[in-house]
Amino acid sequence: MPTSPADQDAIVIGGGFYGSVIAVYLARQRGLRHIALIEREPALLSRASYNNQARVHNGYHYPRSFTTAYRSRVNLPRFVRQWPEAVKQDFTKLYAIARQNSKVTARQFERFCREIGARLQPATPTLRALFEPHLIEDVFMVEEYAFDATRLAGWAERELQACGVRIRYETQATAIFRGANGTLQVTTETSRGVRESLSCRYLFNCTYSGLNQFQGDFSRTRTGLKQEIAEIALVRMPSTLQGLGITVMDGPFFSLMPFPSRGLHSLSHVRYTPHLHWDDAPGIDPYRKLEEYAHESRVDRMLRDVARYMPGMLEATPVDSLFEVKTVLVKNEGDDGRPILFEQHHELPGCYSVLGGKIDNIYDALDKLDEQEIA
Ligand SMILES: Cc1cc2nc3c(=O)[nH]c(=O)nc-3n(C[C@H](O)[C@H](O)[C@H](O)COP(=O)(O)OP(=O)(O)OC[C@H]3O[C@@H](n4cnc5c(N)ncnc54)[C@H](O)[C@@H]3O)c2cc1C
Repeated sequence: MPTSPADQDAIVIGGGFYGSVIAVYLARQRGLRHIALIEREPALLSRASYNNQARVHNGYHYPRSFTTAYRSRVNLPRFVRQWPEAVKQDFTKLYAIARQNSKVTARQFERFCREIGARLQPATPTLRALFEPHLIEDVFMVEEYAFDATRLAGWAERELQACGVRIRYETQATAIFRGANGTLQVTTETSRGVRESLSCRYLFNCTYSGLNQFQGDFSRTRTGLKQEIAEIALVRMPSTLQGLGITVMDGPFFSLMPFPSRGLHSLSHVRYTPHLHWDDAPGIDPYRKLEEYAHESRVDRMLRDVARYMPGMLEATPVDSLFEVKTVLVKNEGDDGRPILFEQHHELPGCYSVLGGKIDNIYDALDKLDEQEIA
């Protein structure tokens, strides 16, 4: 374990939800006093932690991955308790099962929900009537919530300040080296081209899609990653569908969720949301790839397909689209599971990479941190 003096006790690279919560944890739970957080953007939680579907998962979404479903059931109540102000619960959430091309039938879905202990009720006739009966086998009311990323960002700013964590915005970490006497060296560069080298005892790489984009002695994560440019459309719902969240399972269908920070709904479609994908590798910078990509929206195609299942959606208005790189573990491509990646880099003692497949997984990451010798 690193013992010699360094500029910082810990450096956290990445000021998304994971990096922010981990920096607060290191200060509050582990008593580290000198912590720096390095973020390439001008604000916290402005990348994947904002550009997503804002669903606080409660298991329903994962009939093909029992572990992910089960962990969601455990983590959702913890998330709601810790960030009540950022959780939107006042909407009716429906899961509908498609008759064709679905990997799950309505009866299998009911059985799966029983197995994971997730509540579900048959939808009322009025709600059921919103769907096209030739295409939808059954509709259920479930308990699933949405989170407000802007409120989580506000929480992170306040907490990090209260803990004395020094945040360097518009600063990119570019290289990681083994330093003298067991320390780690991080090279940074600001958006104005100012370079610096900082040393630390512990380093947390919480850069999500940027996890493997470092020069120096950092090799790469042992777990393979897949990158995808994803489009989440933001739409204004017709007044008849305002208070709803809707997911059609389980195949080439769609999800509509309240997007609290904009007062709109987010729309993702399994066929149209993924624009481009590639195997992650050092040197293929996902952020640059997204910047260079033509952001041509597919919202029209999404809405046209959604309206086949829910004719009322013909009245929805597209407002905007969020484009972001989504990073998943290669091993979960088939089952859609979303475990965390938590790796200690043995060639760089004190250096960890952390990636959470979804927002509530933060507790799985913190549980892992509890097991580490950090002082
Ligand atoms: C399209 C999409 C839909 C999703 N839907 C959901 C959902 O509905 N529910 C759910 O729970 N989860 C969802 N997720 C997953 C969820 O968004 C992520 O699990 C979570 O936001 C990851 O948080 P993070 O802090 O690791 O990543 P980010 O928020 O991306 O934070 C990483 C930060 O690191 C910074 N950074 C990167 N490289 C460097 C560097 N070299 N130097 C300095 N800073 C750097 C970035 O600017 C960024 O701010 C979705 C993700 C996407 C992309």
